[in-house]
Amino acid sequence: MEQTKICEACKRELPISVFYRTKKGKAMPRCKACVDNFRKCNMCKKRKPLTDFGGNIYCKECYTKYSKNWYKNNSIKRNKYHTQFRNDRRLKVLNYISGEDIKCAGCGFSDIRILQIDHIKGGGLQERKEVGNITTLYSKILKMDLKEVKENYQILCPNCNWIKKVENKGERGGLKPSLS
Ligand SMILES: [Zn+2]
Ligand SMILES: [Zn+2]
Ligand SMILES: [Zn+2]
Repeated sequence: MEQTKICEACKRELPISVFYRTKKGKAMPRCKACVDNFRKCNMCKKRKPLTDFGGNIYCKECYTKYSKNWYKNNSIKRNKYHTQFRNDRRLKVLNYISGEDIKCAGCGFSDIRILQIDHIKGGGLQERKEVGNITTLYSKILKMDLKEVKENYQILCPNCNWIKKVENKGERGGLKPSLS
C-alpha cells in the first residue's frame, strides 16, 4: 500500500508519488497538480488557479482593482495638469489683453481670480461653441495680432460683464434692468 498525503491546497488524499519532493527528499505540502496549476497572487496572497491570472503577477480580481485605482489616481493627476495648463493660458491671455496691469475695463477691479475675458462685440458664447473649449479660445487669442485682440476683447469683472449683458438686452427691447 502506497503512502498517502493530504494536499494542503486541494485537500485531497493522494498517493505520495504525486507530490514533488524537496531537496531533502520530503514530500511538498501540495500535490503536483496544485503546484503546477496554482500560483500565489502577489497582491492578495491567495493561491488561485493559473486561469485566474492572465499572465500577471496579480490575480484577475486584484488586477482589476489595481488598474481601476491606477486609472483613478492618474486621472486626478491629469485633471490637475489640465487645470494648471488652463490657468497658465488664462493668465497669459489676461496679460496679453491688458498688459502688466490686469484689471476690469469697466470699474478697475483687479482680482484676477474672477476677471473674465469679454468679447467686446458680443458673440462670446457663439465663439466658444465654434472653437470647442476655453483652452482653444485662449490659444486662438494668443495667436491673434495684439491690435486685433484689443479691438475684440476686453477684461471685465463679473459685475460689469453682467451689467453689460443686461444693458445689451435692454437695447434690444429684451430684459430691462428693473427699477426698484
Ligand atoms: Zn492538490
Ligand atoms: Zn489577488
Ligand atoms: Zn468691473
